[in-house]
Amino acid sequence: MKTPTPLPVEQIPETPPRTQAHARPDSSSDVLVVGAGPTGLACAIEAQKAGFKALIIDKGCLVNSIYHYPNNMVFFTTPELLEIGDIPFTTSLAKPTRLEALEYYRRVAEHYHLDVRQYQWVKTITGGDGKFRVTTTDRHSAIHDYRARKIVVATGYYDLANQVGSPGEDLDKVFHYYREPHPYYDADVVVIGGKNSAAEAALDLWRHGARVTLVHREPQMHHHVKYWVRPDIENRIKAGEIVARFNSTVQEIGADFVVLRTPSGPQRLKNDFVFALTGYHPDYDFLRSVGIELSDEQMRPVCDPENLESNVPGIYVAGVIVAGSRTNEIFIENGRFHGKLIAAHLSEKLGGGNPNIPLDAT
Ligand SMILES: Cc1cc2nc3c(=O)[nH]c(=O)nc-3n(C[C@H](O)[C@H](O)[C@H](O)COP(=O)(O)OP(=O)(O)OC[C@H]3O[C@@H](n4cnc5c(N)ncnc54)[C@H](O)[C@@H]3O)c2cc1C
Repeated sequence: MKTPTPLPVEQIPETPPRTQAHARPDSSSDVLVVGAGPTGLACAIEAQKAGFKALIIDKGCLVNSIYHYPNNMVFFTTPELLEIGDIPFTTSLAKPTRLEALEYYRRVAEHYHLDVRQYQWVKTITGGDGKFRVTTTDRHSAIHDYRARKIVVATGYYDLANQVGSPGEDLDKVFHYYREPHPYYDADVVVIGGKNSAAEAALDLWRHGARVTLVHREPQMHHHVKYWVRPDIENRIKAGEIVARFNSTVQEIGADFVVLRTPSGPQRLKNDFVFALTGYHPDYDFLRSVGIELSDEQMRPVCDPENLESNVPGIYVAGVIVAGSRTNEIFIENGRFHGKLIAAHLSEKLGGGNPNIPLDAT
């Protein structure tokens, strides 16, 4: 038998990554999940387990919010409470790092062969129960169309930062997300906020050589600051290592200064960078655009707490958006169970999944 001549190296086709190998080009599904956060993934997994064809669309990467958390963050939750799809999450220390969580959710997506369409922004959801039409825009402004019988909206809250409303907030030196300390070495930095994000950023910046002023409108740090972070930030403030301005707000931000509104009158500080870490909120306009009603006070989507179906038949809400503006009520620990509630209701409504769909991952 003739031995085949080996291909020249430049002609050897690249092995497609495993995720690409599982990519399914179809654009119709039983359940279309908007948002590939931990909740969205859990919803798709539970729908698949119930026999439905699920598709997930995210405007960023897989678990996009976690990807954008501070580079060196450590979760406050122990790993087993972040698990989805009954896949064990083991970590080297007691609490998972951001990198470990990213790896974990990648492995879960791969294990269940989840059909995740990344970098597509869901812009519109039209049609009605049983025959929804979803339109997305990708990174190259191309428009994609999907059909689905049911929709799960699990869009989180981390994309929209609460604004402090000070003149100058739109300057390049003002950030609403904290990633890492190095660029702020030997710089004058103001951190606005009194909860975990602000406390942790202030400490990290100070430990890496920034001169930090923490500005908070209340008389002390918020009672939600983690019990192991609180003594650290309070002691740094007591020692004058981090300057705290309580009962104060930022009145104006300029190119190289900020003006604070303090109990003893306006105070002008030399300033290089500002981190306004005053929380985030769900995209209420998007929810309203698909017809979901929001409560007056806390902007909670109107939904049946038993199964999370919203006031729009066939559209479910899941994850942190269920709590509206009270974003500290639902996190991964409890939002991850929404998938099971929704899948049970889907089975009731759709009478079990489509047996023609291969469910090799379940
Ligand atoms: C710094 C930090 C630390 C935290 N630590 C913990 C912890 O230790 N334990 C814990 O349980 N929780 C923790 N949380 C909270 C937790 O991460 C969130 O509650 C959780 O991510 C919410 O999950 P979700 O799936 O509802 O939303 P998200 O994880 O925010 O996912 C929503 C997804 O939807 C996508 N999306 C939004 N709009 C669209 C659209 N129109 N089209 C397509 N895609 C869209 C986004 O890109 C995103 O990927 C922490 C939060 C922060 C900020």
